Amino acid sequence: MKALVVAIDGPSGVGKSTVGKALAARLGVPYLDTGAMYRAVGLAVKRKGIALPLEDPARVIAIASGVDVRVTGSAEDARTWLNGEDVSKEIRTPEISKYASAVSAVPGVRRRLAGMQRSLALEGGGVLEGRDIGTKVVPETPHKFFLTASAAVRARRRFAELSAKNSLETYEQVLADMEARDHADATRADSPLTDDGTYARLDTSALSVDEVVDRVLSAVGRPVPPGG
Ligand code: C5P
Repeated sequence: MKALVVAIDGPSGVGKSTVGKALAARLGVPYLDTGAMYRAVGLAVKRKGIALPLEDPARVIAIASGVDVRVTGSAEDARTWLNGEDVSKEIRTPEISKYASAVSAVPGVRRRLAGMQRSLALEGGGVLEGRDIGTKVVPETPHKFFLTASAAVRARRRFAELSAKNSLETYEQVLADMEARDHADATRADSPLTDDGTYARLDTSALSVDEVVDRVLSAVGRPVPPGG
């Protein structure tokens, strides 16, 4: 594998996006938020009027196969597109988190999105964040980090993010939703979130973003500059 690929996996609210964006900027490689792709498919499914829990996986796969999902931009300006429409904001709601988790348990959806993610990583390298980057998408990369933090710390972070966007969700709702989603993500049959022992683990509960980034950077080592 020639391109530098850094895998950041872990449960929701653990800081993967903030850390992943800062890392990509420092390393000068693309940033790929793989969760955004599951969120875009989740939004497409919701727009078709399909309710949760999903009862017809074949229909979900048909919808996922018929949509054009893209993530573009740099770490500073990452955007998510669904059939050419910028859905970057619309996918960040608690409801779409549930849809994303539900569609991500459908093997046909995972095959398609994980295949796209792998091609992007092998072509241009990058910091990829998600749940299965180190186990399924690019298992051969030596740079794999599994971020953890207590559920209370993660829910507080997520609650602060949502409150800043004027969400009316209470802390208790955020915590309950997060625990339900983490449980679903870690227990699904296809590509569950799991530390299979090949990751460097990092507990971010008591660390600042900069501290996490510095630790990952020193573990990755400095990339060789182009032509160097
Ligand atoms: O990371 P984020 O919270 O945006 O991801 C939304 C959902 O997408 C997750 O709860 C998970 O179900 C799914 N996901 C996944 N595999 C990934 C990234 C996200 O199953 N690599």
